Amino acid sequence: MIANEQKTSLPNLFQDKNRPCLSNWPEDTDVLYIVSQFFVEEWRKFVRKPTRCSPVSSVGNSALLCPHGGLMFTFASMTKEDSKLIALIWPSEWQTIQKLFVVDHVIKITRTEVEDVHPSETQYISEPKLCPECREGLLCQQQRDLREYTQATIYVHKVVDNKKVMKDSAPELNVSSSETEEDKEEAKPDGEKDPDFNQSNGGTKRQKISHQNYIAYQKQVIRRSMRHRKVRGEKALLVSANQTLKELKIQIMHAFSVAPFDQNLSIDGKILSDDCATLGTLGVIPESVILLKADEPIADYAAMDDVMQVCMPEEGFKA
Ligand SMILES: [Zn+2]
Repeated sequence: MIANEQKTSLPNLFQDKNRPCLSNWPEDTDVLYIVSQFFVEEWRKFVRKPTRCSPVSSVGNSALLCPHGGLMFTFASMTKEDSKLIALIWPSEWQTIQKLFVVDHVIKITRTEVEDVHPSETQYISEPKLCPECREGLLCQQQRDLREYTQATIYVHKVVDNKKVMKDSAPELNVSSSETEEDKEEAKPDGEKDPDFNQSNGGTKRQKISHQNYIAYQKQVIRRSMRHRKVRGEKALLVSANQTLKELKIQIMHAFSVAPFDQNLSIDGKILSDDCATLGTLGVIPESVILLKADEPIADYAAMDDVMQVCMPEEGFKA
């Protein structure tokens, strides 16, 4: 049986054990190979349920390369935000992979010591090399997606203003797992951001087309990893980057029964106040969590319920 043979040939890859790490390069090898995380996940699915999934025949490394055959990631990005897209492979495992699967492109990282300088310096060289143009195009595309989305999900979390304790407990609910913390970081990359380049560079249009497959693939992976876990007292809304804050407030009014002028909205501690500004310019991106504080006094039992829920943070973890 193919699945069983593959499983016993690559036991650690299957069980996600003893994985090499770029940021803590293993002592006993100078070479590591790269495949896409998508390939590894599809392969694991097949091995687990060989009767229900079709076998994986190719490593599909072209998904990690640009149309020029260059690598789409920097060494630094592969240790951080892009680490979710790649899987590192030991040389011995690579021997096996070459026998079991079609290898369309070899991607490897080599560690070398540069002896000319003192003290000697360690360098990591990828093969194929990074394609800087396509890397730039990809980053622009990612930034554009964060500003030009339509029908994206954001979350509105209602907190109650007159309870001081709420201010402290509510944000904790949102970062209850380490994964969520990472996601927040990923959602707003601070570096490598250059809107001027993005707008003035006519070449990015062409790149956009040639990368469509790749970007669709990457979006799928990112969307999966960015997904926010909804907690109690929180509602998901569908919004677009070009709608105004005023329009969002009307959506919130329908969802929470709070009049627009009673809504105090903030995102990452920043107050959202310009009703005419669009969500895109206010920095509201897909999967954002907006805090809603209502000015109104608590008058009905439904509102009391909300308070009770926010008062018990442990309830939030179960949700
Ligand atoms: Zn390229």
